[in-house]
Amino acid sequence: MMKKYLIYISLLGAPLFWGQNKVTETSAYQQNWKLSEKENAAMAFDADIKLSEAEMVLDKKIFQVRKQFLSETEAKKISLYNSSFYEIRPLIEGSKLYEVLQNMPKGGLLHTHSGGITEVQWIISAARKYNECYVYDQKDNDQFIFGQLAFFEKGKVPNGFVSLDKKLNTNPDFEKQLQDLLTLKRDHLCSYTDYWIEFEKRFKRINLLLPYRPFFKEYYLKGFQDLIKDKVQHVEIRYIFEELYDFQHGKYPLKTSITDLQDILKEIHQSDPQFTLKLIYSSFKFLDNESIGKQLETAFEMKKEFPDMISGFDLVADEAAGHNINFFEKNWTKLNELNKKYGVEMPLFLHAGESNSALNKNVLDVALLNNKRIGHGLNLIYFPKTMEQIRKQNKLVEVSPISNQVLGYVSDMRNHPARVLLSNGVQCSISSDDPSVYGYTGLSYDFWVALVYWELDVKALKKLVFNSINYSSLNENEKKKAVTYLNLQWNDFVQKTNQKLN
Ligand SMILES: [Zn+2]
Repeated sequence: MMKKYLIYISLLGAPLFWGQNKVTETSAYQQNWKLSEKENAAMAFDADIKLSEAEMVLDKKIFQVRKQFLSETEAKKISLYNSSFYEIRPLIEGSKLYEVLQNMPKGGLLHTHSGGITEVQWIISAARKYNECYVYDQKDNDQFIFGQLAFFEKGKVPNGFVSLDKKLNTNPDFEKQLQDLLTLKRDHLCSYTDYWIEFEKRFKRINLLLPYRPFFKEYYLKGFQDLIKDKVQHVEIRYIFEELYDFQHGKYPLKTSITDLQDILKEIHQSDPQFTLKLIYSSFKFLDNESIGKQLETAFEMKKEFPDMISGFDLVADEAAGHNINFFEKNWTKLNELNKKYGVEMPLFLHAGESNSALNKNVLDVALLNNKRIGHGLNLIYFPKTMEQIRKQNKLVEVSPISNQVLGYVSDMRNHPARVLLSNGVQCSISSDDPSVYGYTGLSYDFWVALVYWELDVKALKKLVFNSINYSSLNENEKKKAVTYLNLQWNDFVQKTNQKLN
């Protein structure tokens, strides 16, 4: 026994044995521990944020609310960590934290797509008001799939399509069925195996609706209103350009979609003058170099004409199926030449690293390119050198937690890779990607997930919110105004929430 004790003494330098040294030695240990804690915190993405007195009060209150929520779910034996977003959604909606987050100003939504902005129930009810709206109610074929919506002129309706309104009137169950066909949910953690195939079918079903000019105007107006309601003041859309049309005029030039969006903004500004919009010209990763070359030319032409509306360029689609970013090297090297030719810059906002595989090396490219922000960046944590570069280059990762779970990249949200990025000082913001396809609107759900599962404090929340404006593609003047507005909203939120939470 004594022998064993002597071994401990020699290993530990005997501080435990001699009472006299005990106080100072233990305290040196604790000092080192504290130092280590501090040094780790100093590396985190939110290290530069200093909270006001009121924010510190709020932080304590939110911490308590979260703690209480967790102990209640534990007492009720709710499996918070092994459930999908959809399983716990009613729990989220009934929680005090959700109410707090709904009232929190979100700044900007930096990552969302033109096909996924507003809720599916609204899409169905808005579309059925048009007599010329039809739905395909036959089995999938090469051209159309079951539940696909489209507008047609009378007498030119393809076989298999029936009037949407009539179909909904004669078959009351069809509305629910159609809602399910337009949303992708991971009801349970093992709902699908081919997430992307199911995901793309959702887009196909509404693709033919969006370019119909009267519907287009309604759709974006509703989308922007939804965001404003959820306290989002700025949005950047990965935008797939296509020619709008109606049956009186036929097709309109490409730029009509931009001028129409500007008109919608004017309407929005009557009640919400702070709301801003930027479009990121988006094409597809599965196209070849020549097609992307053409797409880039079009993007430059559009940006030259609408420099305040178009901010940059992106390539979308399943990274496992399309070309990697490296494949487009020729296109990227031409960017400088195009900058000169058109007199405008075209920064990239590429989706990269939306993958669990270290064989997908798209994040290596974004560190080499003029790529301001990265869509998803989930596998960035497997490339430490690149992660360090991204941090030093001050590029932001757009994180969409619910999207990542629905598409099968993350199951237990506590293990989301963004936590590694945040603690390593990589800047991030919170986005919703395709909320309509996932069956919700706004940003509050994604913030709820981040707050609860990633143990965020007010400091981190504030940094994420302000990042979404500071890393936006607003120009300097717009950004200044946006930050001023956000500061006012934020302080108001802190004050009111402090009053509400006892
Ligand atoms: Zn996306």
